[in-house]
Amino acid sequence: MKITAIRTTPLSCGCDPPYASAAGVQGRRVGLLVEIETDAGITGIGESGTGGGVTRAVIDRDLAPMLIGEDPLLIEGLWQKMFARTRQYGRRGVVMNAISGIDIALWDIVGKVAGLPLYRLFGACRDRVEAYASGGFYQEGKSVDDLAGEAEGYRARGFKGMKMKVGRNPSTQTHLRHLADHAQLCEVEPEVDIARVAAVRRALGSQTKLMVDVNCAWSPSFAIEMGRALEPYKPYWIEEPVATDDIDGSARVAEALATPIAGYETEIGLYGFRELIIRDAVDIVQPDLAWAGGFSECRRIAALAQAHHLMVAPHAFAGAVLLAASLHFSASIPNGLALEFDQNPNGLRDELLKEPISIDSEGTVKLPERPGLGIELDRGAVERYRSE
Ligand SMILES: [Mg+2]
Repeated sequence: MKITAIRTTPLSCGCDPPYASAAGVQGRRVGLLVEIETDAGITGIGESGTGGGVTRAVIDRDLAPMLIGEDPLLIEGLWQKMFARTRQYGRRGVVMNAISGIDIALWDIVGKVAGLPLYRLFGACRDRVEAYASGGFYQEGKSVDDLAGEAEGYRARGFKGMKMKVGRNPSTQTHLRHLADHAQLCEVEPEVDIARVAAVRRALGSQTKLMVDVNCAWSPSFAIEMGRALEPYKPYWIEEPVATDDIDGSARVAEALATPIAGYETEIGLYGFRELIIRDAVDIVQPDLAWAGGFSECRRIAALAQAHHLMVAPHAFAGAVLLAASLHFSASIPNGLALEFDQNPNGLRDELLKEPISIDSEGTVKLPERPGLGIELDRGAVERYRSE
């Protein structure tokens, strides 16, 4: 079997009204669809992080010419070739985003050839995965009561966990603060964040998990202070409390707090996660399959996490293909903890697949039993959201 073509399709969907995390304001949701065609008539589907719109060029101009004519089942060999030949300008960032989408699509092909859903091909641990609602963003005019109402809605639908944003504070003591876009929009004092977390905890009750996501906004000492203030509300984890590259700072926070530290979606590749893991900077490991190197690399990251007795909760906050990939990944690793299930309005998650992924009343997502990722694209939706 040979690869005959690689197609990239940038997708975009507006957020109206926009919503904010400590990292910035979300005015659009974007994704990059990667489809790999073969001479056997099998097409693999993947999704890449868009890397500010540059990932597509890396695939089209650099990686596709390396892959056309190659056997799509030699995935590890192709992965290592792409990584090695981009070493001088790759290893992180958009090049790894690009490799990620290709890797996911290649694995979809293997699953289709084998006639097995990917999670079973990898050696399944479970056939359903607990999902948590990822929301709780800041929004202009959104009150603490509105946020509590959002949380109640997730609980009523069966979710066993919810993640909310914190950290959009003017007094974060971090030099990164002034670099966030629209820094003043929806900014709240830390006391307001504590009140928001308290309200969500009341709305969820004591049994539903509550995660808080700082998106790298705090300094280590401020994160320790805030982490202690949040302890009465029993956060299940605190996500990305400090800057991604402040590995020693994150380790200091993890050492000081009883609450587990999760992260860092903004890290990429096995070598990046190796530092977070061996230097005790995280308690829960969060690679994103569309950014960090696809199934191949994220399964290596999960194995390293397993060697350190750490759980893995993949970051997934883009389109439906990434969500499906994250589902298969979570079901196939021994240390899979939970599936991130974005709950903001997002056509790229809800409309791209003929059969969208959904949770059941138990708060779990059942794995599809069709071969590969087990998904079929709705071509009308792809055209509707195509941005170029
Ligand atoms: Mg996050």
